[in-house]
Amino acid sequence: MTICRGIAGRRGENPVGIFLHNDAGSQNADAAFYRSWLQTHSLENGFAHYYVASDSVLQAEDDTNCAWHCGDPNGNLNYLSIEVCQSMGELNTFKSNEKTALELAAQKCQQYGITPSKDTIRLHQEVYATACPHRSTEIHGGASAAKMYFINRIKELMNEINSTGTAERLATTAIERTITTMQCFYKITDKDKNKIYYFDGFNVHPLSHPDEKKVLNDIYKANNGKDMPEFSWISKVPWFMRLKNAMKRMD
Ligand SMILES: [Zn+2]
Repeated sequence: MTICRGIAGRRGENPVGIFLHNDAGSQNADAAFYRSWLQTHSLENGFAHYYVASDSVLQAEDDTNCAWHCGDPNGNLNYLSIEVCQSMGELNTFKSNEKTALELAAQKCQQYGITPSKDTIRLHQEVYATACPHRSTEIHGGASAAKMYFINRIKELMNEINSTGTAERLATTAIERTITTMQCFYKITDKDKNKIYYFDGFNVHPLSHPDEKKVLNDIYKANNGKDMPEFSWISKVPWFMRLKNAMKRMD
């Protein structure tokens, strides 16, 4: 499950194009930063599908879901969104992130049969009063030039994908799917010590069969390389209530 959980709605069909954003974030606003930031801030303030930063590429929302990324209903509904991160930081870091973001965009165009053009590769400022993508427009000589650069570069990369094989290309951009790091199992030992609860990072689910725990743990382990943490609590010291209450509260 991704961080944003389809909160902006399901598209239910392939995206028709891609918006490229610059995050207006500092050198420290990397993928690890956004991973925790998105989980502690109201998503109504906006989020993108992908955050491309120097440490990794974070996927915050599934491609088949919408994202609140551009303030334009058509853009939010029908387009994928990629944030080039650390756009207020060091130039070479930003350029390298932009390079990776365009590789990701090329993969996505390939995957969804999108032909890069003025209609499919979009800048945030085309639909909203914003300087975004501010750093890309600055380094490529203005908005139109940046857009043309993006379109041409994505085309080039797609040709490369076609000639070298997608597998190789995909391997160069390791996308970190955002597995919620807050997941756990717990028991309330003085109530029913055999009953297992699964906390998915947002909600608590009582399990009804040991195999449910097994399959959840198998998936968690495949993604994280270790067993899901497990806690034993007692009803007199109800940590599970603290957990449930904390999850209901929004900033
Ligand atoms: Zn933007």
